[in-house]
Amino acid sequence: MRPSFHPRLVNPPLEDPALFVPFFFEKRALLFDMGDLHRLAPKEILKVTHGFVSHAHMDHFVGFDTLLRAFLGRQKTFHIFGPPNFLQHVEGKLASYTWNLVENYSHGFSLKATEVHPGRSITRVYDCEKSFRPHDPPEEAPFEGILVAEPAFSVHAVHLDHKISCLAFSLQERFHVNIMKDRLKKLGIPVGPWLGKFKDALYEGQAPETAFEIVWKGAGNGGRTFRLGELAEQIACVSPGQKMAYIVDVIFSAENAAKIVEFARDADHLFIEAAFLDAELEIARKKYHLTAGQAGMLARAANVKQLTVFHFSPRYAHDAHRLHREAHEAFGVL
Ligand SMILES: [Zn+2]
Ligand SMILES: [Zn+2]
Repeated sequence: MRPSFHPRLVNPPLEDPALFVPFFFEKRALLFDMGDLHRLAPKEILKVTHGFVSHAHMDHFVGFDTLLRAFLGRQKTFHIFGPPNFLQHVEGKLASYTWNLVENYSHGFSLKATEVHPGRSITRVYDCEKSFRPHDPPEEAPFEGILVAEPAFSVHAVHLDHKISCLAFSLQERFHVNIMKDRLKKLGIPVGPWLGKFKDALYEGQAPETAFEIVWKGAGNGGRTFRLGELAEQIACVSPGQKMAYIVDVIFSAENAAKIVEFARDADHLFIEAAFLDAELEIARKKYHLTAGQAGMLARAANVKQLTVFHFSPRYAHDAHRLHREAHEAFGVL
């Protein structure tokens, strides 16, 4: 099965955390944490519509400037989410530059930032044209675990303990639509942007008898029209959606462990920090981080299918393989 999302760590595991998640059929991506982003190509950065920041320690947030730099002067709204006090951190970043010429930009970039507390969220909008001064009163809403809900997917968050509040995130596809290219070929219809519209129609739950028109370059005067349900039967294979979870910078406590196992349960792919070896359990505890063994054990308890560990302490620069090994031994695949 071909998943719709292709998560990729931006940096090697000894460097800053950032998980780039481009969508397969769209020029769009999500970003989980924003440490150093210099390895992302500008065209990849421009695809990012939503950024999710676990906490504002520098190694997770320093790339905010890179995004802002790329988005300036573009007609775009960038949504960014973070833990309690996040708006203060965003405003601090924005306040560190001079914005006196931005009213000359013909397109208005807008930043929509949400600070997520247990039980409620606070959102503020910062427009480039207004020198990023927040112009509306903050908007408060209840928070019940879901940050973004779109027809095709949702992004969820839970608060964990890193001596400060730190967010873990999961991305869940509603269901997966796999296009059978050989069937398309038989119908004589090429792939194209219509496939995105076709998937959207399925995700929106449009009635099977809805007329669906396919037009493509070189189709002559018109394309072809199908009933949505018949077309789906002919060219699509619908299966359960993928789930991905992202967890960094947490102490191994009974409360965190129970929340993590529940949150990451049955994920197809778990990205989780493995900062230290079990041999340095005491340092991990003092610094509010997980060991590789703990990360692997949590992945096993959550019944995840695939495990990727990262965010290693620099002290393992020459023996990072030991962290991979310890995590995967505890996970049970070695
Ligand atoms: Zn960190
Ligand atoms: Zn941290």
